[in-house]
Amino acid sequence: MGSHVKGLRCRACGLDTDPIAAHVCTACFGPLEVVYDYDGMAAEVSRELIAAGPRSVWRYAPLLPELPGADPDARVDLQAGLTPLQPAPRLAAALGLRELWLKNDTTNPTWSFKDRVVTVALTVARQLGFDTAACVSTGNLANSVAAHAASAGMDAVLLVPADLERAKIATSAVYGPTLIAVEGSYDDCNRLGAEAAGEQGWAFVNVNVRPYYAEGSKTLGYEMAEQLGWRLPRHVVAPMASGSMLVKIDKAFQELVATGLVAEEPWRVSGAQAAGCAPISSAFADGAHEVEPVKADTIAKSLAIGTPADGPYALEAVRRTGGWMEACSDAEIVEAIELLARTEGIFGETAAGVTVACLRRAVRSGAMRPDEPTVAVISGQGLKTLDVLTDQVGPAATIRPGIGALEDAIDELVG
Ligand SMILES: *Cc1c(COP(=O)(O)O)cnc(C)c1O
Ligand SMILES: [Zn+2]
Repeated sequence: MGSHVKGLRCRACGLDTDPIAAHVCTACFGPLEVVYDYDGMAAEVSRELIAAGPRSVWRYAPLLPELPGADPDARVDLQAGLTPLQPAPRLAAALGLRELWLKNDTTNPTWSFKDRVVTVALTVARQLGFDTAACVSTGNLANSVAAHAASAGMDAVLLVPADLERAKIATSAVYGPTLIAVEGSYDDCNRLGAEAAGEQGWAFVNVNVRPYYAEGSKTLGYEMAEQLGWRLPRHVVAPMASGSMLVKIDKAFQELVATGLVAEEPWRVSGAQAAGCAPISSAFADGAHEVEPVKADTIAKSLAIGTPADGPYALEAVRRTGGWMEACSDAEIVEAIELLARTEGIFGETAAGVTVACLRRAVRSGAMRPDEPTVAVISGQGLKTLDVLTDQVGPAATIRPGIGALEDAIDELVG
């Protein structure tokens, strides 16, 4: 299998660059994106080739940005991806929808969707000659970079806000990275990361190798189509932090059509944010094309990016496809985490609560047609944000260890 990467192209001015470690255009500081030779890609890929590939995101290797000369055995690979796409009839009924599917990314190696982007970023980083992986993270990315770096014998340096959930600190630190807690917001960490990336010679997954990293999110879209029997889903709802995941799901659908892997059918993509950090959804509601930065204040820390790099592109994708954007309160997030768990047996983190709560809002507002088959992305696992539930759920009764006490309790609780 060959690489179909042509290089990097500026999304603002169109200037082309070689496939190097860079994320902004030297001419206009616009964001860089990986471009491919789609004719070459279409000539190589087929449904059969993909089906015969690994049971991970790497089954889509011809559509991913490995560089020429890639050795499949040298990938930084913990088998991310190919997560379940499961029907959710009980949640659908609770929300008033006819057909709902959940893309359950809680089952990834470090229990969030971030494993998809990190396996791609670090594989390319190693090809580019880096031996240290770094990131700025609200938690899930740090988990994933630490784990993938450990598995490949790379060093890892992680910058996280000091007020992160305790579980997300422990679940990164256990892999032995250099973990640095920054007394500031994610956006403060991000500024620091951008400065450090230039100086340290590290592969900063969401800074200097971001164009490759972002491509990993496309695998969500490829998998949905493959798992639906090589058809595009009619409608996808994605949680938004930087907005990149949503943009890349839409890009994946365009590529599946361009390479002839699926028939062209209309699709739409919709975005979900927490009201405490909803710069993209607010711009959508205002009819704006630019995104005003906000100061984040929400329990959905994995989505708490006040200056979303891909905001304008997410707005474009949602408007072009006729989707919606919503924002929900912290109380709705907790309610939605419980609703998802009780109806479908999936324990999602706060970002999953955001997706489900915004879906409910969209049904109520009429933005969401009840008969429209929909896939919702459940992007992270609930044990990581257990703190938000500790006052919400617990034992129905606490009793002495005697049969009389048990019978009394059961009489009272179940009648
Ligand atoms: C990072 C993340 C997202 C989406 O992030 P984008 O920056 O919009 O791509 C969604 N859910 C979880 C749990 C995440 O960690
Ligand atoms: Zn440019």
